[in-house]
Amino acid sequence: MSAKDAQSLETVCVHAGVKPDPQNGAIMTPIFQTSTYVQPSPGKPLTWDYSRGGNPTRAALETSLAALERARHAVSYASGLAAEQSIIQALEPGARVIVSEDVYGGSGRLFRRLFARYGLQFDFMDLRDLDAVAAAVDAKTQLIWVETPTNPLLRLVDIAGISAIAKKVGAKVVVDNTFCSPILQQPLALGADVVVHSTTKYIGGHSDLIGGAVMTNDDELAEKLRFVQFAAGAVNSPFECFMLLRSIKTLALRMERHSANALALARALEDSGEFSSVIYPGLESHPQHALARRQMPNGYSGMIGVYLKRDMEGVSRFLTHLRVFALAESLGGVESLANHPEVMTHASVPPELRQKLGINAQLVRFSVGIENVKDLIEDIRQALRR
Ligand code: PLP
Repeated sequence: MSAKDAQSLETVCVHAGVKPDPQNGAIMTPIFQTSTYVQPSPGKPLTWDYSRGGNPTRAALETSLAALERARHAVSYASGLAAEQSIIQALEPGARVIVSEDVYGGSGRLFRRLFARYGLQFDFMDLRDLDAVAAAVDAKTQLIWVETPTNPLLRLVDIAGISAIAKKVGAKVVVDNTFCSPILQQPLALGADVVVHSTTKYIGGHSDLIGGAVMTNDDELAEKLRFVQFAAGAVNSPFECFMLLRSIKTLALRMERHSANALALARALEDSGEFSSVIYPGLESHPQHALARRQMPNGYSGMIGVYLKRDMEGVSRFLTHLRVFALAESLGGVESLANHPEVMTHASVPPELRQKLGINAQLVRFSVGIENVKDLIEDIRQALRR
């Protein structure tokens, strides 16, 4: 199907991968809770021989995930980090990887503390500076690892700009698209080679599962990823695949509401004068708002960062008095969450880097849910009064 003929993403969300069951007509793909498959004759299975290698519920999910990123291939995993791990395990030994310096803390930990021990080289840098990236890439660089918007500072990286630089040296570009979901940002269309998601977040959307996915149009890489998954086993369960298939049906609707709520809340917080800074790519005050408009054409997602004008004790008091926002790690669910990156999600980031980036006592991150935004604004107001 050419891009012109492609169905719109709202329709893809509802239909891709899910076909009525040929035996009973069930409209939803069943949960094929099986580890093995009966073979009509030795060594000649019908489709799969063992569920680490493949499962019908997982296959339906992967068809849906591929269609969402307009990719030929999707591989789904037990978690976002399992998906990231598999991409790194598919590299050649001795590879150099250039990474956004403010990637999600868990991604940084995986690269610094696990894979660096095996002779891979990870160089962390500010990927907003395209000249610096162009000067840094070399023939050893196999990957540029982009996260945009970044977690938790909501900095943007120019995917098309980075991809053009990578192509010159034959490196591939991976984009962690977790904060946007495929509804708000389509990295492959902008020149990236690989998209990775923590499906735990917006794609799952209900804070009730852990999962990950990789999408690509690169046939050779897809084959390597499938081999790594089969050999190492980071698969998700049929039940979780089913939950994701169900979640994806409302993904477009949810992203629209998350984005509308977050924009209204960010504007209200900025106007309140109670914060020294409100960071949201949809605000005209965001230094990369023009790039956000180009790269995230369907909305700016539900993540907001704010700096409070208080010390740690005051920030703590604010967080514990929120009533609608829950104080919790993670993001992307229908319910609004507040998080203190310095002591929660980003505690594993080296302290010097946290300081350089501005992940400090005053920074609070909101994951804006789909509640009525008036209640969210009022919740923040009443917690500030305490
Ligand atoms: N990427 C981003 C941007 C994240 O925020 C997270 C988790 O918070 C991950 C990857 C890791 O995903 P998971 O927790 O599903 O392993």
